[in-house]
Amino acid sequence: MIDDEDEGPVRLLSVHAHPDDESSKGAGTVALLSDRGVRCVLVCCTGGEVGDILNPAMDTDEVKADIAAVRRRELARAAEILGYAEVLWLGYRDSGMPGMEENEHPGNFANAPFDDAVARLVAIIRRERPHVVLTYPDIQDGYAHPDHLRVHDVTIAAVRVAADSAQLSWAGPRWDVSKLYYSMWSRARVVATHDKLLELGLESPYDEVWFTRPWQDFRITTSVDVGAAYDRKKAALLAHATQIAPDSPFWFALPDDVAATVHPFEEYHLARSTVPVELPETDLLAGLRATTGATVG
Ligand SMILES: [Zn+2]
Repeated sequence: MIDDEDEGPVRLLSVHAHPDDESSKGAGTVALLSDRGVRCVLVCCTGGEVGDILNPAMDTDEVKADIAAVRRRELARAAEILGYAEVLWLGYRDSGMPGMEENEHPGNFANAPFDDAVARLVAIIRRERPHVVLTYPDIQDGYAHPDHLRVHDVTIAAVRVAADSAQLSWAGPRWDVSKLYYSMWSRARVVATHDKLLELGLESPYDEVWFTRPWQDFRITTSVDVGAAYDRKKAALLAHATQIAPDSPFWFALPDDVAATVHPFEEYHLARSTVPVELPETDLLAGLRATTGATVG
C-alpha cells in the first residue's frame, strides 16, 4: 500500500535504452496512466547515436550529421504525445548491435562502469520515488541488444540499492519501489497480427523464424488493454521519423481500425511486488492505494 504520508500523485518510472523504445514498449500503458493523473517519467539510457536511419525519407547527410540532436527532438515529441511528465537522460552512448565497430567506444552504456550507471539511476529513483518501475526482461533471446540487456541489469540493481539506506546515502533517502515490471512481447500478439493480415489478404512481415523464437508468454502476469491509446501509440512511433517509416510493414501493415483492436494488450511480467496482488492482473496500479493526489483504479 502507498502509505498515508506519501503525498502527491502515483508515480511511474520507465527505463529504456534508446529513443523510440518508449514508443514500442509500454507506450499505451503510459498514455492511459498519465490520463489517470499518474506522473510518468522516462529514463533514456543512451542517445541512440548508432541506430541506423530506417526511414529512407530521412536518410540524408543533414540528418546523419546531426543524428544525436535529431533523435533527442524525436524523443521529446514522442514523450509529449504519450503524456510523460519528464524525460531524463542517463548520459551514455549507444553501444550498437553486437559486431559493430562502435561496440568498443568507452562512453558506451555497455562498457560504462556498472556501479556508475546504477548510482545514476538510484539518484533518479530516490528523487522521483516511483511506485511502479518498468524495465526489460531478464531473458531477451529475441533481440539481444547490449544496451537492452544492460537496461535490465542496471534497473534491477538500482531498485535494490535505492531501497537500502546503507548504500549511496548522497543520493537521498531510501525508496522502495512497490511494483517492478518487465515489458514482454508476446507470441500471442504476433500470431493474432499475422492471422489477421492473412485473413485480410495482406502480406505478413512474420515468417517462420518469428514463430520458432523462444517465446515467454507463460511468464505474462499482467495484460493491459491499451486499445484506447492506439492513436497516441502510433503518433509516438511516427515521431521517431528516422527510425520508423510511415509505411513500415512491421508497424503499420494493418488498417488503423483493425490494428487498434487486434490483440490490443501490452503485456508484462510482474517481477517484484511489495503490495498484495492477485495474478493475473489488468492494471499496473492494482494493489496500490493513493490516499492523496491521483485517484487509483
Ligand atoms: Zn533500443
